[in-house]
Amino acid sequence: MLNVEFKESDEPNVWHEDVKEFKVTDKTNGRTLGLFYLDLYPREGKFKHFAVFSFMDRRVKDGKTYLPICSMVSNYDKPTADTPSLLNHSDVETFFHEFGHLMHTMSNQANYARFGLSGVLRDFVETPSMMFEKWAWKEEVLSKLSGHYKDPKKKLPSNLLKRMIDAKLLDVGILQLRQVAYSLIDLVYHTEGAEDTSAVFRKHFSETTGYMMPEEVKMDAGFGHFVNPGYTAGYYGYLWSKSYAEDVFTKFEKNGFMDSKTGTEYRQKILAPGGSLDPDDMVISFLGREMNTDAFMKSLGLDND
Ligand SMILES: [Zn+2]
Repeated sequence: MLNVEFKESDEPNVWHEDVKEFKVTDKTNGRTLGLFYLDLYPREGKFKHFAVFSFMDRRVKDGKTYLPICSMVSNYDKPTADTPSLLNHSDVETFFHEFGHLMHTMSNQANYARFGLSGVLRDFVETPSMMFEKWAWKEEVLSKLSGHYKDPKKKLPSNLLKRMIDAKLLDVGILQLRQVAYSLIDLVYHTEGAEDTSAVFRKHFSETTGYMMPEEVKMDAGFGHFVNPGYTAGYYGYLWSKSYAEDVFTKFEKNGFMDSKTGTEYRQKILAPGGSLDPDDMVISFLGREMNTDAFMKSLGLDND
């Protein structure tokens, strides 16, 4: 779809036998884009969550191009000789999400490291990863990469996938309002400030969601995003990235989500610039119009029609 080729290394230079090394090539011109690692299974002392870590950002120095190198780190159950990992659908969706970050890194064409993935604006950086999740909800994709573990020819029944898609909207209002509340609280902390952070949390949480947060619950004390460097006042970026993701995906809905012409254009116009262009300008160049939130609203079941 992105018009790239993956080639697994025969002699990988890795830190553990479970880790695999891949080279990514741009099929439009045969150039190598970068190198990535898949470190998929848990082990003693390893990072316990899911993330993509960059080892080196792309850069051009003294006429020489240094390619990006990153690793996708996850903790899926390791397959055994007679049982595969048996990922549930949400695991697969997470794989697609992280792989979106990975391809964002691999596609980068900026000449300075500061315009690599770490330079992408916080309220856009989740767009490519959230967008890739959409492919994990397409029957054509799922039937290609999955099947009953005892008989892979048996695919996920269409009506089951349809019911899963319908169920996505279950409680979506509660979930989104919670995101709005967190975003708002985060902005209040970093603009107005707060002497009693718990009281501010409770106030905005209940005003926004309609749910009371009990006084003895100190959610603000354990919510790293509010204070982590790089996130401060940026929690709203998740919702905003999602709005971009839904909007950018409309072009794939129209042209076909496996259409490599659209995919190549997406790679060149949205992924390749990294942090070197303003997200709004990238979206205009890809969609031919300014970004809007119609598709995001539709994804929540709030259709304008
Ligand atoms: Zn992410």
